[in-house]
Amino acid sequence: MTMPITLKDIAIHPVVEQEGAWFDVMKFFPTLTRELLDDNRSWLMPTLVDPANNCLVICVQSFVIKTPHHNILIDACVGNHKPRPARPFWNMLNSDRFENGLAALGLTVNDIDYVMCTHLHTDHVGWNTRLDNGRWVPTFANAKYIMADRELEHWTAREKENPSSVPWITDSVLPIVEAKRAEIVKSDFAFSDTVQLLPTPGHTIDHFSVLVGGAGEDALITGDMIHSPLQGKYPELGMMADYDSAQAGKTRRTVFERFCDQPTIMCLSHFPMPSTARVRRWGDGYKFVALGG
Ligand SMILES: [Zn+2]
Repeated sequence: MTMPITLKDIAIHPVVEQEGAWFDVMKFFPTLTRELLDDNRSWLMPTLVDPANNCLVICVQSFVIKTPHHNILIDACVGNHKPRPARPFWNMLNSDRFENGLAALGLTVNDIDYVMCTHLHTDHVGWNTRLDNGRWVPTFANAKYIMADRELEHWTAREKENPSSVPWITDSVLPIVEAKRAEIVKSDFAFSDTVQLLPTPGHTIDHFSVLVGGAGEDALITGDMIHSPLQGKYPELGMMADYDSAQAGKTRRTVFERFCDQPTIMCLSHFPMPSTARVRRWGDGYKFVALGG
């Protein structure tokens, strides 16, 4: 259990669903060469790449932002009872870890006021819905779900064309729209004075990150604009599920250049625990330094 991040009267807490080494690092980053991996082994292993199977160590987590007015959940992990035949390690999960994580913060699913979906991939929308008498209904019964307009359009069209290729849209996104719980916004939407969406496109068509707090005391919840510190050192390194890897690389350079001289805390959704760091220049790229380090 890591400490929350406190920014004046706002707290950010991780809620972890899983951590594991499931994806072969060479497949995960299709343009990664054996030579480049070998050059970086000393700092990647064993924490970031598992030497036993050469797989990237990945955390699947949400973040809860507690403001004086709202409880906001950023992303919703893989979820329970979801058929994911293409991803055996995420198929038909039945785990109480996510809800226990909320309970540890004194929260139930009914206490979440907003769910913000940084993007609509399977490991970010799962807890959006739960099974109720054979139907998928909103898990967070009192919440509005914030989604970017072009992101939702893109995935809705994909689902219409070939539903079996995107089962998570069918069971975890469209039921939210049908229940009229979706609040569809631009990816630069200002939610409040202290919670602001930041467009970070490339990994998906209209991906956003979430900037929390005020000048000099803030944090950026990245979502999937980055998956591994290796993409800090080499910002142009694309990952296998990118919509547009070139654009994702530009996004990483723009964001890291903006924050690398700032005290801004990065909450790096897929990095192994503690998943929080500051970004600093490192040669032609960027590194992530421990808080307090
Ligand atoms: Zn992801």
